[in-house]
Amino acid sequence: MNIPLSSPDITELEIKYVTDVLKTPYLSLGPKLNEFEEKFAEYIGAKHAIAVNSGTSGLHLCIKALGISEGDEVITTSFSFIASASCLLYERAKPIFVDIDKSTLNICPDKIEEFIEKSISQNRQHKIKAILPVHVFGHPCDMQKIMGIANRYNLLVIEDACEALGAEYGFRETQGNGMRYTIPEFVNKKTALNSTLSNHTRETIKWKKAGTIGKVGVFAFYPNKQMTTGEGGIIVTNDKRISDTCKSLRNQGRSSNSRWLKHVRLGYNYRISDINCALGLAQLQRLEEILQKRERIANLYNQILKNCKGFRIPYVDPSVRMSWFVYVLHLDEEFGEKERDSIINALKRKGIACSNYFPPIHLQPIFVNLFGYRNGALPITEKIAERTLALPFHNNLTEQEVWFIAETLKGEINRRI
Ligand SMILES: *Cc1c(COP(=O)(O)O)cnc(C)c1O
Repeated sequence: MNIPLSSPDITELEIKYVTDVLKTPYLSLGPKLNEFEEKFAEYIGAKHAIAVNSGTSGLHLCIKALGISEGDEVITTSFSFIASASCLLYERAKPIFVDIDKSTLNICPDKIEEFIEKSISQNRQHKIKAILPVHVFGHPCDMQKIMGIANRYNLLVIEDACEALGAEYGFRETQGNGMRYTIPEFVNKKTALNSTLSNHTRETIKWKKAGTIGKVGVFAFYPNKQMTTGEGGIIVTNDKRISDTCKSLRNQGRSSNSRWLKHVRLGYNYRISDINCALGLAQLQRLEEILQKRERIANLYNQILKNCKGFRIPYVDPSVRMSWFVYVLHLDEEFGEKERDSIINALKRKGIACSNYFPPIHLQPIFVNLFGYRNGALPITEKIAERTLALPFHNNLTEQEVWFIAETLKGEINRRI
């Protein structure tokens, strides 16, 4: 057995689309770039899509285009891939890490508000410019609360949707008596979803795709993501000015209507080639199939691993439609980081690749050096990060492989209880 942690899902369609581009002279800034951007924007439901050479580049351009700069503070999560915070450091902005929700593993809205209120009491709230939620592992953040906070305190929202292509968040809205308002937050979520509030008031759920809720959203197409372009990423927004700025920044600061060698701002080469875009077009065409395959595998894991001793399966909140990026278990309290790592190594020896998604960003050496973070700064993030275990997860895992992985894992856990 040799089961990788992830693996892209490439068919003859992808091979055809890529080789078709290779038979043309348009390897970059050609027709496939526009086609990919248009089709992606249509799929996701945003006015503009700007494709770039990585998700990290996309995040960086968003920070720049929104005018976030030296000394500005952006509230985000430490339980994520490093890029969601390094994009801030490129512009010398300061990431403010707040703790996560222990079920969804996403940034905790109450902690965001706590930080803002504290800043207000110290009269330093003017530094806070934005919230950067990460829909970690494909589970959307509590966007109802986050957008509420952003509106109340006049903050921008940059969604890192790099792990959440296809995920959706259900906004709760009530209608009746010609009135339309949002359910107060103190109403229990489950009750609210199922109940009729009064004779004249009816509740509806308005589903929105992750990445299209804030001012800007970013997706990534590295080979382990839901869909791939080899390397690549895309920014989505409804704001034409931001879209134009991002297009200029990715292409050496050229303005869209000026001649080729005229540069109106400091730009980058963050372009994505038409070869990568062609690969993306084939994957986009197959996206529903891809997402369904992933859901089927996650459901099979869930079915075999639910109610086992020693760990719990991934939590999915009723307010979201998950898009499965990885399959991450959470070990019980009795296990620590050492036991978790020893389980990972035992599985590796049996040909099952596993990983410790994610070591917290604030404890990475670069962040410790820059900001002096210590153990204990974010108790929930740290406690959870020591106990997460990502199992192999990709479209072409067979049922037998899933059973083999699950049974091997159960064996390793039971030996340690
Ligand atoms: C993958 C990922 C990115 C961007 O990744 P690239 O490798 O630069 O495409 C950013 N944020 C998160 C949370 C990610 O998982």
